[in-house]
Amino acid sequence: MKCLHCGDCCIRFAIPELDKPEGVRCKYLTEDNLCELWDKEERPKVCNDHDYPASICPIGLAKLELTLVNKKEGLKQTGLLNIF
Ligand code: SF4
Ligand code: SF4
Repeated sequence: MKCLHCGDCCIRFAIPELDKPEGVRCKYLTEDNLCELWDKEERPKVCNDHDYPASICPIGLAKLELTLVNKKEGLKQTGLLNIF
């Protein structure tokens, strides 16, 4: 599955191995939503196993679509969208 690095799953889910509760940003999630433990032994198994049965992560895709819709709305309000 292709991850779009929205960071959602590293905030949304509890990770007991890290004492990370639900809804709290993982301390190993970088500002650009990459995992500091990537390829390290201490990365929790649940993180290594995390997957969705789709070629692109549906959560990341939904967030990307929402971002694009919001940008389009912003452009509409400035009138810039009319030039395209
Ligand atoms: S360890 Fe890495 S993959 Fe796991 S929740 Fe934290 S940032 Fe995300
Ligand atoms: S929710 Fe999906 S796209 Fe976002 S960081 Fe997690 S795996 Fe990647």
